[in-house]
Amino acid sequence: MKKISTKIYISMFALTLAVLAFVGAALILSKTLDYYKDFEQTVTAVFDRPLPEDTDELYEYVKNEYDVICLGSRKEVYILERGNIVKSTAKGGTIRMTDTLESVISGGFAKRPNLTSDALDYAVRTGEDTVLYMLDTRADLYAYIRELTVLFLQALVLGILLAALCGYFISKKLTRPIQKLTDGARRMSEGEFVTVECGARDEIGNLCGVFNDMSRQIKSDFAQFERVEQSRREFVANVSHELKTPLTVIKSYSETLMNMDVDEATRRKFLAVISDETERMSDIVGQLLTISGLKAPAAAENSVISLAPVCQSILSAQSIAIENKGITASVTGDAKIVSDMQKVSAILTNLITNAVKYTENDGKIAVTITDGEHPSVTVWDDGIGIANEDIPHLFERFYRTDKARGRETGGSGLGLAIAKQCADAIGANITVRSELHKFTEFEVTF
Ligand code: ADP
Repeated sequence: MKKISTKIYISMFALTLAVLAFVGAALILSKTLDYYKDFEQTVTAVFDRPLPEDTDELYEYVKNEYDVICLGSRKEVYILERGNIVKSTAKGGTIRMTDTLESVISGGFAKRPNLTSDALDYAVRTGEDTVLYMLDTRADLYAYIRELTVLFLQALVLGILLAALCGYFISKKLTRPIQKLTDGARRMSEGEFVTVECGARDEIGNLCGVFNDMSRQIKSDFAQFERVEQSRREFVANVSHELKTPLTVIKSYSETLMNMDVDEATRRKFLAVISDETERMSDIVGQLLTISGLKAPAAAENSVISLAPVCQSILSAQSIAIENKGITASVTGDAKIVSDMQKVSAILTNLITNAVKYTENDGKIAVTITDGEHPSVTVWDDGIGIANEDIPHLFERFYRTDKARGRETGGSGLGLAIAKQCADAIGANITVRSELHKFTEFEVTF
């Protein structure tokens, strides 16, 4: 795997090299073209006219014009007769046979030199056997190209150093947020939900934003999952605990009955306890099924419900307990609502039964029904009351303010949870007000 920084370095080097090579090539080409143009102009200025036929006169002319001829670059002029040098401005006595020279000596015309010619030269026949030949050694051009090459090599070294420096900073700037994202993702895979501060406002910055949103979302989902899981564990533990108590009682009583000789009265008493505990278990299981929605829910059939008769009939069902405790119970007011009878009845039954259960002897229970846009039922009692710290937990499953007494009164702590679940299902709301040892008031608003 190639690192991003390596890729950036390579790109920067390649770019520097390409720019320098392009500029260098352009400079050399333009200089060469200018050089050839100058040569052309010299030829036009000095030799494009009738030239003296006499060798000496011709050489004299050349010498007079030598400054013009050498303008721009050094050139040598030769005068040849029958192919031999007779006069020349050069020191040496030989010349190389070029295409141009060969063509003119053999009676042809001089070719105009171009970039692909073997030499930068000019030749013209001035007499029968006389040829004037001018050769530019291109020494100046080559010197210029050499200088330029050295200059570009220096520029290349400097450019590469600069490219490395820029590459370092660019790759740092680019890879730092990516590194942070990678670290964040790694920590997230280890279960730590972090947010990443990239400080960039580009595409990587956007990616960081999306990453952070994702991390927050997963964190909240995970917390929710843990809450649900925790409540599920508690629920299972509570169910086991609630069922274990009656099972232990049943087991010990039945074992006693099997292993010991007991009189008829004791036998009946034990069987009654076993029967009570079995019923209690059956109630708990029934309530559990309701609460977990496993019990096939009857299709929610909305009907017009008159609240006062419903409350009355619930109180009537509790008449034995009410009479035994000498409780005074009353239902005042009435209202009609359209709702699911089964759920309304479940809510009111739980509230009224609790009022009877948690009101002491000679207590008072008042059920007040208020009509209006949102009819309500208030179940008030002057019983044992509920401590402030218990109120927020009342609707939790298996919550009882006093565990020991709850069992005594046959409570499982599921009644209010069921009432709340039913209220949510029909869009009703239950509120509680209570003062310990003074009163308790549950209000259902439909
Ligand atoms: P339970 O089956 O134990 O009655 P509930 O869910 O109906 O379960 O009630 C939860 C707890 O709230 C009860 O155990 C009891 O401590 C308290 N509670 C409910 N209603 C009343 C009330 N009217 N007066 C005093 N305490 C009450």
